[in-house]
Amino acid sequence: MNNLKAISINVAIPFFVALIFAFLVYYQEKIPSFIFDIMPYIFYVLSAIVIVISWHFNRNRFLFVLFPLVLLYIGFEFLPASKATLLFKYISIIFPLHLLIFLILSERGLFSLWGNLKIAFVVLELAIIVWFVEYPNSMILDIFNIKLFVFDSFPLSDVSIVVGLFILFIMLSLVLFNHFLMYNGSFLLILISLYATLYFVKINNVIELGFIAIVLIILVLLIREAYRLAFYDELTSLPGRRALIEDMAKLGRKYTLAMCDIDHFKKFNDTYGHDTGDEVLKMVATKLANVGGGGKAYRYGGEEFTLLFPSKDVDESYIYADILRENIAKSPFVVRNKKSAKKIFINISAGIVQNSAKDKDPFATMKRADNALYKAKDAGRNKVVKA
Ligand code: GH3
Ligand code: MG
Ligand code: MG
Repeated sequence: MNNLKAISINVAIPFFVALIFAFLVYYQEKIPSFIFDIMPYIFYVLSAIVIVISWHFNRNRFLFVLFPLVLLYIGFEFLPASKATLLFKYISIIFPLHLLIFLILSERGLFSLWGNLKIAFVVLELAIIVWFVEYPNSMILDIFNIKLFVFDSFPLSDVSIVVGLFILFIMLSLVLFNHFLMYNGSFLLILISLYATLYFVKINNVIELGFIAIVLIILVLLIREAYRLAFYDELTSLPGRRALIEDMAKLGRKYTLAMCDIDHFKKFNDTYGHDTGDEVLKMVATKLANVGGGGKAYRYGGEEFTLLFPSKDVDESYIYADILRENIAKSPFVVRNKKSAKKIFINISAGIVQNSAKDKDPFATMKRADNALYKAKDAGRNKVVKA
């Protein structure tokens, strides 16, 4: 299960975007009316911006969500009422499913085979919707009249409520258990915003505000994704060297820094393969991320990690670093091959130092920690050496 703090952050950010728009709908008489006149343009411009950024970052998932959303908006804006009503009925079932599919499908190049299949899928979806808007089919329309609940879900059909609840359940499970938390949290709120928008469709400007909220949730997600790409390491999900340099610039008068390195890792890779080596790196990173004492872990590069203990002296930080070292050394890593599973133990060495008046900057402190690390290696490894 995902860590509760991470879940709350990743759900709260899109939730606040949605909440702001719920307030805007509620207090819309306080908004100057000219804003509502330009609302469609705001929606188009924001969508265009998000589409360009998604394209640039190769985040095609968002293209597949936004293009249909823009087309939908155009449909609601320009279709005659009877056709718009049909469109509303269809998409209140199809679009939530569409969201889930594109959340789950892995991100691949638009021009790969997989990408082409996705494009074909969306084109087919659109063609089917356009067809049934033009030529309504009574059997399909009957689906929307099925009564399942005692309460009245109008204008949503009962079937669309069932589909929505089913997708809500899956998305909630993803938020709880899947590590792709940033995306899952945002898509959950997109789903909820979409249903709220459709349910309250009769209220003035709900479509405009609801759709802008969805685009903004995606924009915020993209900005966070760009931040993650720049500052976080892909393999271990720890902050990377760039984040370390930024954080070192913000340190106070007293801090402690540790450089850690996995022992004999080259041999491990040579024996079990690079992929297994990567798995070990992830396991070690998870342990490092949970070092106590307010310490923060970074992947410095390769199999080297840095721990920063802001405002802690070296004696106190040493205790946490050494508990961590021992914890790693005692945790078996299971290597499975076709026939058997084998438990392997790995360990780390670390050099830990407190900043001193003589260090002209945190890099000088880091250099001393590195020297202490060499001493730990020389002293037989699986050790934390204080300098
Ligand atoms: P020592 O105890 O002296 O540290 O020995 P070592 O073998 O760990 O030596 P060194 O630190 O120089 O070895 C670094 C090795 O780490 C080289 C490379 O094979 C491995 N390595 C670095 N980055 C990665 C990575 O991202 N994945 C994997 N699987 N291995 C990596
Ligand atoms: Mg090394
Ligand atoms: Mg090493």
